[in-house]
Amino acid sequence: MTKPHYKRVVLKLSGEALAGTQGFGIDSKMIESIANQIGEVITLGVEVAVVVGGGNIWRGVSESAKGIDRATADYMGMLATVMNALALQAGLEKLGVESRVQTSIEMRQVAEPYIRRRAIRHLEKRRVVIFAGGTGNPFFSTDTTAALRAAEIEAEVILMAKNKVDGVYSADPVLHPEATKYDHLSYIEILQQGLGVMDSTASTLCMENNIPIIVFSILEEGNIKKVVMGDQIGTVIGG
Ligand code: UDP
Repeated sequence: MTKPHYKRVVLKLSGEALAGTQGFGIDSKMIESIANQIGEVITLGVEVAVVVGGGNIWRGVSESAKGIDRATADYMGMLATVMNALALQAGLEKLGVESRVQTSIEMRQVAEPYIRRRAIRHLEKRRVVIFAGGTGNPFFSTDTTAALRAAEIEAEVILMAKNKVDGVYSADPVLHPEATKYDHLSYIEILQQGLGVMDSTASTLCMENNIPIIVFSILEEGNIKKVVMGDQIGTVIGG
């Protein structure tokens, strides 16, 4: 059997990915599918850290427009990511996949606080580590959290799971069916062309730390395994 391409990965799950087709909240079928796919790569011996988003429950920028100040709305968004993390942990537990949730904002009754060395130890023991609470700071995103945590734990790649697209396109393929999919892009291209893959803070952090990003669709079962095995699906962003 061929060996996985990566030893340690960060999987970025947007809130949208957890919402599935309903577009909001948490879809138990999506949780089940994602947990299955994570379990599959754990069996291959890959160390998996997950950064969860919260946009399916609360998104700071759009909510702040409705009258709550931005910092408060962002803290609410960070709390939303914790709900997603717990849902994913419950899904993994059902399959017998060991996991730990670590939060950037302390809530010890619910999860461990984020401690870098402890997270690495969990990974070495083949436990899935779910990073919740974003960076713990308003005005940031969970994409930036994925870049930050990947750099901290020395992950080799960020697997950016999407539920609307299967890679990066020249334009939004939903609105522009003629848009073409890229196999490979540089960080600079992402930044200069403003391609909506991740925010510029996250892209810059990945570029400075030389962390490649693979954008792919989570909707097809088995895709996480394919990416981890080095199959060319989706778009690779690198130097
Ligand atoms: N957020 C934040 N700081 C962080 C990460 C997240 O303030 O470090 C807030 C922000 O309001 C954001 C929300 O949490 O809108 C949900 O995160 P995000 O939008 O990144 O989730 P996703 O788009 O991946 O579902």
